[in-house]
Formats: sequence, structure tokens, C-alpha cells
Amino acid sequence: MNKFATKLALSASTVFAFSMMSSLPATAQDYSAWDNANQNASFKRCGTRDLSEREIGMIEAAVQKRINNAKKPDHAGGGGGGNGGGGDGGGGDDTTRPAGTVVFDTYFHVMCDDNGNNCRNTQAEVDAQMAVLNNAFAGGTGGTATPFAFNLVQTNFVKKTDWLTISSGSSQETAMKSTLRQGDAATLNIYSTNLDGGLLGWATFPTDYASNPLRDGVVILAESVPGGTAAPYNEGDTGTHEVGHWLGLYHTFQSGCQGGDLVADTAAERSPAYGCPVGRDTCKKGGEPDPIYNFMDYTDDSCMFEFTNGQAFRADTLSLQYRK
Ligand SMILES: [Zn+2]
Repeated sequence: MNKFATKLALSASTVFAFSMMSSLPATAQDYSAWDNANQNASFKRCGTRDLSEREIGMIEAAVQKRINNAKKPDHAGGGGGGNGGGGDGGGGDDTTRPAGTVVFDTYFHVMCDDNGNNCRNTQAEVDAQMAVLNNAFAGGTGGTATPFAFNLVQTNFVKKTDWLTISSGSSQETAMKSTLRQGDAATLNIYSTNLDGGLLGWATFPTDYASNPLRDGVVILAESVPGGTAAPYNEGDTGTHEVGHWLGLYHTFQSGCQGGDLVADTAAERSPAYGCPVGRDTCKKGGEPDPIYNFMDYTDDSCMFEFTNGQAFRADTLSLQYRK
């Protein structure tokens, strides 16, 4: 039994996820239907902003520089599709730091009311979220064992009624982070509260830190933690996805069929996938199905279970430059 099957078997939302599939399009060519296939429209997977061309250029330059510096810059296999596919899956992958050797101190800020009551999460939920996060980045659910681990230094139960619900980009977000943020560029700050607009979370990229260090971090919907009420997004993978952004990973559909997330070993896809549409194939290049099991797609928590070697290399490269 593979780990994905194990995870599905353990998932309370499995039946729900599969029951939704029957309403999804029967063929991958039915693109318009796929684009509107979000059966959970009360939630929006991720509010992380799209990067500008300039920012993408900075990130790509950092990745390319490391590839070029790798011992065996074997780019022979890159080939093919435009500016995307030939990227960091090449000979540089073997220089990714060993699994579990890059440990980020983590501060977990849980919003409560002014009296310290009605906290959005319990300590047990915070611990469960940290366990899911560490397991995902360790490859424990089936993907690559990345270099990254996260050490919970402190859970901060915050007495502030005004921050019990936050909008992305609001003055409350600015005040919350400015007041609470701990550490430096290599310190992960997670803020857990209720989020406006149905968002599950958002994050800042490593390249954002220099210009706005106080904004750096990850915001998650409190009920997205393991056992929360935000089914089918309540197994803690919102946290995993957003920390992926915090380490510099794009969405798998970022550039559509022109290279997806610019990582060579994740298949490109035309648009976000929702639910768990097994066999979905929106880019007809190379016959590889869409990366629906990847943590950086929009599928249900019970569906996503992996980072790839190329993603680990990319995140490692950006961390070496921006998260130290
Ligand atoms: Zn995202």
C-alpha cells in the first residue's frame, strides 16, 4: 500500500472527495468545465499574490546561478518547451542539502479575544499542524524528503479581538504582524485566525523580506488545521502549501502550460485543480498528467501529498540566498 493510499484511507473526507469527482468533466479536453470545477467555492485555496515579472526574474536568476555552479551542470535533458521545462531538475538536484538539516525556528500566533478567550486554535491543534508540516516536508506522506524542518519555539495566544478576523492587505494585518512578528528572515511566523473572503491562507515570498520584513510570514485560516471545520481543507495542508510559498515555491499552474511552476519535474497544468481529479491532463505535452498530488496545487487536502526533487532544490536554493 503506498503512502497516498494510506493517507486516503485515514482521511475522513475521502468519501466526499470521491463523490465530487462524479460531477467533474469526463474528458480532459473539457477545459472550461475544469476551470470551474471548484466544488468548494465557499473556500478560496490561496491568497498569495502573483509575483511580478521582475520578481520572477530575480528568483529564476538565483536558481539558474546555483545550477550553473553545481558540480555537474548537466543540462542536456532540459530541452523542449520554452522557458519553463529545462529548469532546475537538471544536474544540480544532487546538491540539495540533506533531508532535515535546515531547521527554521517557528512562532505560531493564535488570535484570541481581548480577554484571552475564544482562541482560534488550541495548543493541541497547533501541535498537530506542526506535525503535519514537518511530516510533509520530510517526505512522510510520499513526496521528496526536503532539507526543511520547523521547530516550534513558542505558541503565542494573542489577546486582541480586532484581529479575530483578518483581510489580506488590511490595516489589521499590518498591525497584527508589526506587533507580533519574531526573529529574522530565517524565522517562520504563522498567524492563525479567521480570514475574510473565504481564503484559506496566504504567504510572502523569500524575495519580499528585504523590502518589508515585518510583513514576512504565513497566514492561515484557523479551521484549516488538522481536525478543523474547513473540510475538505482541514488536514493541515494549507499550512504546508503556504510554507511552500514562504520558501519560494510557485503554484504548479503559475505559468499554465508554458512551464507550470518552472520546476522541471512537476508537470505543467493549465489551471488549478480542485477536488482530486485523477487523470486530469490539461497540457497535452509529453503525456504527463497534471500534478494534482502536489502540495502547490489547489486540490483537497486528502489529495495532495508531495513535493518533488525539483521543488526541494528550488526552495533550498532560495533559502540559501534569502532565508539565512
Ligand atoms: Zn498558494
